[in-house]
Amino acid sequence: MEFIKPLDLQNATRNDNDREQIEKVRCLIIGSGPAGYTAAIYASRANLNPVLYTGLETGGQLTTTTDVDNYPGYPGGVTGPHMMEDFKKQAERFGTVVRFGIATTVDFSGMTHKVTFDDNKTIEADTVIIATGATAKYLGLPSESKYAGMGVSACATCDGFFYKGKDVAVVGGGDTAAEEATYLAGLCRKVYLIVRRDVLRASKIMQAKVLKFSNIEILWEHQTVDLFGENGVEGATLIKKKGTSDEETVRIKIDGFFLAIGHTPNSSVFKQYVETDQVGYIKTVPGTTKTNVEGVFAAGDVQDPHYRQAVTAAGSGCMAAIDAERYLSETLTMH
Ligand SMILES: Cc1cc2nc3c(=O)[nH]c(=O)nc-3n(C[C@H](O)[C@H](O)[C@H](O)COP(=O)(O)OP(=O)(O)OC[C@H]3O[C@@H](n4cnc5c(N)ncnc54)[C@H](O)[C@@H]3O)c2cc1C
Repeated sequence: MEFIKPLDLQNATRNDNDREQIEKVRCLIIGSGPAGYTAAIYASRANLNPVLYTGLETGGQLTTTTDVDNYPGYPGGVTGPHMMEDFKKQAERFGTVVRFGIATTVDFSGMTHKVTFDDNKTIEADTVIIATGATAKYLGLPSESKYAGMGVSACATCDGFFYKGKDVAVVGGGDTAAEEATYLAGLCRKVYLIVRRDVLRASKIMQAKVLKFSNIEILWEHQTVDLFGENGVEGATLIKKKGTSDEETVRIKIDGFFLAIGHTPNSSVFKQYVETDQVGYIKTVPGTTKTNVEGVFAAGDVQDPHYRQAVTAAGSGCMAAIDAERYLSETLTMH
């Protein structure tokens, strides 16, 4: 197998109509959240000359939040955008090439992995680290965006602490909602669990856990239609038994509104080659970041249905770079 020289720009023309640029790299990183940038820090220090594409959301999900209080190394807390700028600077310090661009198609059928970006540039890479994250699902209410960072959250572990001793609501009826509700019940005065149906989809074990908390009140057959408040969430308007003759409007007073109706992993572009679970999370060999495709690794939220935290994403980004470096040195030894 012929190995790729770092940043060997060919500027090749594929056909007459499509002046596609091709560039060869040893390590391509897709995504600029904690997983992508951490992979970049380790890959560049290991001399893999990584090229990182940021995607639409440069810096990832944390750029949409103000306070990050649980990332080690920032004793006074840090804002999400500031922290992600620090990650980027650290990756660039060791030579990572950071570019804006969105991966639109991939071809992982050969030893060299091809990824095409929205500017029609194709990167041919010996190793690819997928760090494209996962997007939380929202109900789609205009008031959710109005109060983003001002009482609306999709992560109890991240933001629950800010509501210590206060009243909050969690939306959802599955395991995630049950987990978020029980986590918040340990911190907050009162937790409303807003459930669309008259049953929970959560496993029996999680249901039993929810019922043990006297400060969780389940609002069965309720749907949220609006949020209200002056300078942040102060309450929610719900409809009980919507569409029936017993339909009723209910208003609850809350300080925080937590969505727990699932996440969409940003894996669709890779799905033709990379194995995912039913939801779309990329499957990795346990204890590693290896996917089913040799030389392709996945890190961060895109492969993590359980933790979805900045520090766990960063940790798996480090693992992915080490896995990529070992793959390259093992493959080089074999050829
Ligand atoms: C509002 C909010 C507050 C949070 N607060 C905290 C907190 O306080 N503490 C904490 O630990 N965690 C927090 N989290 C969770 C944390 O942000 C995530 O766990 C973490 O960002 C995941 O990192 P990641 O690198 O896997 O993915 P992300 O941060 O989601 O980054 C994904 C990257 O992939 C890029 N991308 C996606 N698709 C493509 C594509 N096709 N081509 C190229 N690039 C692509 C995106 O542009 C983005 O740069 C919060 C999340 C949110 C939404």
